[in-house]
Amino acid sequence: MGNESCLFCRIVAGTIPAEFVHQDERCLVIRDINPQAPMHMLVIPREHLESLDDAAQKDEPLLGHLLRVGARVANDEGHGESGYRTVINTGAGAGQSVFHLHVHVLAGRALNWPPG
Ligand code: AMP
Ligand code: ZN
Repeated sequence: MGNESCLFCRIVAGTIPAEFVHQDERCLVIRDINPQAPMHMLVIPREHLESLDDAAQKDEPLLGHLLRVGARVANDEGHGESGYRTVINTGAGAGQSVFHLHVHVLAGRALNWPPG
């Protein structure tokens, strides 16, 4: 279900151009336009869910798929050994700026803990 006012729905629909690193029937992976690490990907479900807070029990297989695709992409980019970070910002106070659920996958530099 495409939402014309949602940036990531528009990327899913192909009306905003993006470089797809991976695509399957449930999600796609693009490079973040404002990378916070040498590798910064976004795993985006095709289905519009506003945030993790919107996910229901029926979405559990999708959530697992998004994480596994993130892991695969990080490995494909050569970061399996050195490590990578998967992040889901939920809510404006946690840094969410696009209200279509997505998983950030970051790698290629030392990542501090706790995150800012
Ligand atoms: P969040 O702040 O967690 O909602 O993450 C949204 C991310 O989307 C940010 O890291 C942005 O840099 C990224 N972003 C925004 N517009 C685009 C775009 N057109 N293509 C790729 N990434 C984008
Ligand atoms: Zn959307």
